[in-house]
Amino acid sequence: MSFELPKLDYAYNALEPLIDARTMEIHHTKHHAAYTNNLNNLVAGTEWEGKSIHEIFSNTDKVPAGIRNNGGGFYNHNLYWKVLTPGGHDKTSGKLHNAIVKDFGSFDKLKEEFAKAAATRFGSGWAWLVKADGKLVVASTPNQDNPLMNVSEVQGTPILGIDVWEHAYYLNYQNRRPDYIEAFWKLVNWDVVSDFFHA
Ligand code: MN
Repeated sequence: MSFELPKLDYAYNALEPLIDARTMEIHHTKHHAAYTNNLNNLVAGTEWEGKSIHEIFSNTDKVPAGIRNNGGGFYNHNLYWKVLTPGGHDKTSGKLHNAIVKDFGSFDKLKEEFAKAAATRFGSGWAWLVKADGKLVVASTPNQDNPLMNVSEVQGTPILGIDVWEHAYYLNYQNRRPDYIEAFWKLVNWDVVSDFFHA
């Protein structure tokens, strides 16, 4: 069993003008592909070969740094492509919405907290909406770490994530990370986030 680069559910240009086609294509065919290939090469012939990505994350403190970084890169981008959609919209509904209101006060407060975590993550990393002990929390992680890793400061299941590595936005936004974060909200597939929330 090896890890496979997923196909996207939409075309590279489908998120334009908010995320440009060239960024999407490089991000998927170069960055995500490299994490996936590196992960397969690094686990081959080791005790981690054949283990699920969740098992690897549960043992992050024991795996070599290369498997941690490329395993995170493999998983994080799978989630990122899924939570984006050209038909995205800036609102929630149903039980997920109720949980957001309960745990953050309002949807706008969640957006504020998430955007702050994304904007203030120094250097490369991710910001997350995480289901942790039945509660929703915002977190951010460095590099390609994520809240499933047993070394993560906040532990839980990520249901929404934004990639704030410069490769995710630099061609279109250069140093304007907050503008990319603002655009991200217009692309979120809340149906998928809701499925992750209920899973
Ligand atoms: Mn990336």
